[in-house]
Amino acid sequence: MLRTHTCGELRLTHVGTTATLAGWVQRVRDKGSIVWIDLRDRYGITQVILEEGKSDAALLMQARTLGREFVLQVGGTVTERLSRNDKLATGDVEIRATHMRVLNTSKTPPFTIEDDTDGGDDLRMKYRYLDLRRAPVRESLLLRHRMAQQTRAYLDGQRFVEVETPVLIKSTPEGARDFVVPSRIHHGEFYALPQSPQTFKQLLMVSGFDRYYQIVKCFRDEDLRADRQPEFTQIDCEMAFIEQEDILLTFEGLIRHLFKTVKGIDLPAVPRMQYAEAMKNYGSDKPDTRFEMKFVELTDLAKGKGFPVFDQSELIVGICAHGAAEYTRRQLDELTDFVKRPQIGARGLVYVQYKSDGTFKSSVDKFFPADELQKWANTMKAQPGDLMLVLSGERDKTRKALGELRLTLGTRLGLRDKNTFSVLWVLDFPLLEWHEETHRYHAMHHPFTSPKPEDIPLLDSQPGQVRANAYDLVINGTEVGGGSIRIHDRATQQLMFSKLGFTEEEAKRQFGFLLEAFEFGAPPHGGIAFGFDRLCALFGGSDSIRDFIAFPKNNAGRDMMIDTPSTIAAEQLVELGIAVRPQ
Ligand code: ASP
Repeated sequence: MLRTHTCGELRLTHVGTTATLAGWVQRVRDKGSIVWIDLRDRYGITQVILEEGKSDAALLMQARTLGREFVLQVGGTVTERLSRNDKLATGDVEIRATHMRVLNTSKTPPFTIEDDTDGGDDLRMKYRYLDLRRAPVRESLLLRHRMAQQTRAYLDGQRFVEVETPVLIKSTPEGARDFVVPSRIHHGEFYALPQSPQTFKQLLMVSGFDRYYQIVKCFRDEDLRADRQPEFTQIDCEMAFIEQEDILLTFEGLIRHLFKTVKGIDLPAVPRMQYAEAMKNYGSDKPDTRFEMKFVELTDLAKGKGFPVFDQSELIVGICAHGAAEYTRRQLDELTDFVKRPQIGARGLVYVQYKSDGTFKSSVDKFFPADELQKWANTMKAQPGDLMLVLSGERDKTRKALGELRLTLGTRLGLRDKNTFSVLWVLDFPLLEWHEETHRYHAMHHPFTSPKPEDIPLLDSQPGQVRANAYDLVINGTEVGGGSIRIHDRATQQLMFSKLGFTEEEAKRQFGFLLEAFEFGAPPHGGIAFGFDRLCALFGGSDSIRDFIAFPKNNAGRDMMIDTPSTIAAEQLVELGIAVRPQ
């Protein structure tokens, strides 16, 4: 071994002993008669000291030639520091160097490798291996490692079997777009990379594995969006001979185990909410329940009072922001601009300031005198000092917009603390959703999700009303997991495909293997998958998943370090049958 200790290990108890460390030179400080070196490795930083008169002169000279990020071996005596550094775990001690060996030199790094770096995003992505030397990024990956280990420990304890499923599979039309891989041997034919191991894990249930899991890479060729990665990792799970309740309990067990072992947090039992309730009260299927601010419907109270905007609306609905009555004109304008942004799409925002002296000031004073506004306040349980914000229009759109406004207000009012965790099951999602572009129903989750038996009769008459045995796990307004109880008989699966507009022929061509498997004794089964990157980011208190992935792509889907996607040789294209050989 090139070292006796790590750079994070030495304490006062080591004083007087000798130690040899190896690591990277973070910084050299030359104060004339004394030279200090901060030596860093994965475990921490230790100060090395060389002093004129006390240290070997040649050694001192060598220390002065060291550059940042040189790889260095240093041996010496552990001594107590005169001025301690309580920011470092090793801050009570330093090493008086008696020997030193440069194991490798380094070019000056393109950015400082410290907690606060001067490197911009692109530069750090290009030199990701250097960025990974920085403590905050390293800690994020170590957190990910602990999460993965604890996930395995819990699931193993619950008799789940880890099985690898293939990465070169078949392209299917449902869901997101597939990444495809051309076959060299079979020109004109393609593999697809899995968007998830969904059908394989179901087949493993048919095989009798009973409980499966995998921490697995999935690929989706979706449009670029901030913080979306074309490849991402799921904790993918499936169980046989279970009902929805078993899944909910097993996997809230996983989440509670992770909170306990990784963060030392005892999570209470996870509350449950119906999808319909979530949409009605929060305008979202993944409500952030760190704060209340539930929707209050005012349609009956406020419609038909002569305010044309309200009178033409299907729904009038508001939220009450406690203590925000004194928002300035500018703040109110900002909120109005926010809801009018095309992504939110509201036509305007009605506000009512319920002043602390009990009077009202609103944007609809002309139509609603104080006694009317008092009725609103009573319904919304508003107190003097509160701000009521009201949107109106078409039902679903208005709810969605108010949901966004609620989140923004939550942030502005400091109600969304990153170190507070509110976990929630959302249950009974609709089975199907209508897509305007394709003019047909699509599976809201995926085509293998089972409808609630009591809703099956509605499949023909009101397909949009059919509820699914589907559930999502939501933490702080982020969907971190989702799954369903599956269809496990051929007839229902075939019915489902036909409702989704597949001809019998198409269904057979794409999913024949699954339909056939269902005829060989498929047990009742169901499962769930968690977005592992997102879960790690949440646990790490970060909005961005990138720092929790060792080598991520940037927001344009590029890997800046290896520089890909990239072109391939003309010869490769010919081999793959994608181009013809030039004559
Ligand atoms: N395969 C599903 C997904 O990736 C999860 C599941 O149903 O288990 O969303």
